[in-house]
Amino acid sequence: MEGLDPVVVELGDQLENPGESLSLTGKLDLSGYSSGEKEFTLADGVSYDVVLTNAGDGILVTGIVRAHADGQCDRCLEPAGFDISGEIEEYYLFEEPEDAESYEDGFELVGPERTVDLSGAIWDAMVMDTPFVVLCRPDCAGLCPTCGANLNDGPCGCADQAEQAWVDSDENPFAALKNLKLD
Ligand SMILES: [Zn+2]
Ligand SMILES: [Zn+2]
Repeated sequence: MEGLDPVVVELGDQLENPGESLSLTGKLDLSGYSSGEKEFTLADGVSYDVVLTNAGDGILVTGIVRAHADGQCDRCLEPAGFDISGEIEEYYLFEEPEDAESYEDGFELVGPERTVDLSGAIWDAMVMDTPFVVLCRPDCAGLCPTCGANLNDGPCGCADQAEQAWVDSDENPFAALKNLKLD
């Protein structure tokens, strides 16, 4: 899925004074997500561990999002998994600022019932920590472009054949030498 359902934290009468903070852990029962063109399954949902602080004109939320994701290796197409450990840092203003347009990255607001929705922050942290290239192992050899064999299982022989073909081809400037007979 793309994006998360709201993850609403009700502050109630907590964090009413600047400097007060509150630790919060939680878990989202999410079975998978997509990032770009790629689909990932989540073995055990998404856990988050955050601290909310009243920073005067808003609530600062910092913390970590953790998950284990499984997808496909970009080189060999075999299953490939990775751990997500993404940093959250989001600021929720109590009131919409007058210079709202100067906030280039946008801003979040504390809800009218003193709620904050962590879903955007959690989602951003997950996507930011999703590797751009997913590999089954750092040195994955990938697939042979000629025959499609998984080169992690060993050489398929195409490379040797290609080299031999080049030696025999007209593009090889030394090919003519083969026919040169020296008496
Ligand atoms: Zn691979
Ligand atoms: Zn091959």
